[in-house]
Amino acid sequence: MDRKAFLKTLSAFVPSIVIGMELRALNKFVDSLGNTPKMPVLFLGHGSPMNAIEDNEFVQGFKKVASGIDHPKAILCISAHWETRGTKVTAMEYPETIHDFGGFPPALYQIQYPAPGSPELAKQTKDLILNQDVVLDHKWGLDHGAWTVIKHMYPKADVPVIQLSLNVNLRPAEHYELAQELSALRKKGVLIIGSGNLVHNLGKVAWHKMNEIYAYDWAKETMEQMNDFIISGNHSGLINYQRQGWELAIPTPEHYLPLLYVLALQDKGETIQLFNDKPLAGSLSMTSVKIGT
Ligand code: ZN
Repeated sequence: MDRKAFLKTLSAFVPSIVIGMELRALNKFVDSLGNTPKMPVLFLGHGSPMNAIEDNEFVQGFKKVASGIDHPKAILCISAHWETRGTKVTAMEYPETIHDFGGFPPALYQIQYPAPGSPELAKQTKDLILNQDVVLDHKWGLDHGAWTVIKHMYPKADVPVIQLSLNVNLRPAEHYELAQELSALRKKGVLIIGSGNLVHNLGKVAWHKMNEIYAYDWAKETMEQMNDFIISGNHSGLINYQRQGWELAIPTPEHYLPLLYVLALQDKGETIQLFNDKPLAGSLSMTSVKIGT
């Protein structure tokens, strides 16, 4: 081949090589989220922010559940502590650790959880949700509903984490329907975590029994009813929680609603189990849920 013919041949190939390289870069993330075995889904009772720096049976429960799960490619967390008007998803490269609480020891404010974000997963999540507009957010970060529990599960902070907000304008059934649209992420190696507390009434906390496994009668009764609904797959009973007489357990909805996101992702016949199923301080419960294996 003479030089002229060579250059002609090269010019014919170079653009496709360049395009190929660009496509590879574009597809890198999609490839990195290639199909995986279906990931489980978790609801975690996060309790006090102090769990971030304490070691107790609940922290052990978070660690144990993580050790039984394939290392996720990313985490999508729905936290009780991010309520917004409209649905938002964090889309920054490096989410800050938000210390969204007051009156705790300085050591707690010094904790940083430097997990990266994932703008790509945020975009994919936005695209998956069709029945609500989703806004890409660059201002939030990781609130304590997310980082105080995830830090025990993945202490190296080597799993990207994004958060999906709780839209205060949605009814419970609409939260459930929105969450169903996230289902495809389970087969992309994404671990979806709802973080809240099923029984959560800070106004009635028995402060003198703050760290004790102790429930008021009404809390115990509500826990039993909720657990029965969860295990038996009575999702409509849980979506319609306002009709169950659980007002003392759920005086405000934000710590309960993440459960609906998790239940919405339970496939037919899929296993569901409880862990950390204990009351605390009279009016809190740490009950956590694992769907799938
Ligand atoms: Zn909380």
